[in-house]
Amino acid sequence: MVSVIIPVYNEEDNIGKLHQELVSVLRKIGHDFEVIFVNDGSTDSTLKELKKLPGAKIISFTRNFGQTSAFDAGFKEAKGDIVVSMDGDLQNDPKDIPELLKKLDEGYDVVCGWRHPRNDTAGKIFVSWGARILRRILLGDTLHDAGCSLRVYKKYCLEGLDLYSEMHRFIPSILAARGFSVTEIKTNHRPRSSGQTKYNWSRAIKGFTDMVVLWFWQRYRARPVHLFGAGGLFLFLLGFGIGIYFFVARIFFGVSLAGRIWPLASVFLMLSGIQLFVAGLLADIAIRNYYSVSKEKSYFIREIIEN
Ligand code: UDP
Ligand code: MG
Repeated sequence: MVSVIIPVYNEEDNIGKLHQELVSVLRKIGHDFEVIFVNDGSTDSTLKELKKLPGAKIISFTRNFGQTSAFDAGFKEAKGDIVVSMDGDLQNDPKDIPELLKKLDEGYDVVCGWRHPRNDTAGKIFVSWGARILRRILLGDTLHDAGCSLRVYKKYCLEGLDLYSEMHRFIPSILAARGFSVTEIKTNHRPRSSGQTKYNWSRAIKGFTDMVVLWFWQRYRARPVHLFGAGGLFLFLLGFGIGIYFFVARIFFGVSLAGRIWPLASVFLMLSGIQLFVAGLLADIAIRNYYSVSKEKSYFIREIIEN
């Protein structure tokens, strides 16, 4: 069975057409299927439209928790042993699904879409390009397109995957680090014809910080002291070196240090920077513990509807 997961947030004019396109593709692939829409706190008539779709399952959040939480809820509800994820704005093309499934059949655990050519604004394409370089450096992830939601997974990959923040972009990186085989194929990308994009520049910042956390987590979680120890030592030696330099200059060469704020300022800034960074990482560790130990979730479902 194939489960298709679609997060939607204010997509009233898109879901009807999407569902139609999707069902006509899914009928042809010769598997049982279910279509699960996750209504991520839409404030327009999306939920009303969803209730009209024959055979669809709807997970409806109490408010907007973000696309990542929507995927998480959908994955946990999916009954199929193959899971397909995609956007609900018609930018991904359901006609690509059979190709993705064929690739999965070759023995991969995950097949990702690569939106090529991309039908988005130049700004978005530029951010994706920068993100791709960083992903390659930090995570060793060589996929072209982390922002494409159209992907197919074997269900077992998704076990024990708790997603939050903007992490859905890094699912392939996480799964590859866990040893699953991940590949990509080019998929169609259509311009957004109705509704608005739900993201702005803040996505780039969130995505970047998530990437740093993931980099740390994958590399240093067992031995954070390697990173912080080395970084701490380096900064200490740097500060020590600057201190010695000015000490010698003052004592032996009579250089006046009055009015020289920069040595102090640089040490101060570096130390505060590292303090903040460490605090952020500790907070991340704490929050992971919190969510795994307590049964509390990072999102809340109001109702689950089966049409
Ligand atoms: N989305 C969501 N919750 C959000 C933001 C987006 O469920 O908080 C959905 C949105 O309805 C769409 C998909 O995620 O189906 C991709 O969003 P969008 O098209 O705005 O992203 P873009 O294509 O501009 O990157
Ligand atoms: Mg879109």
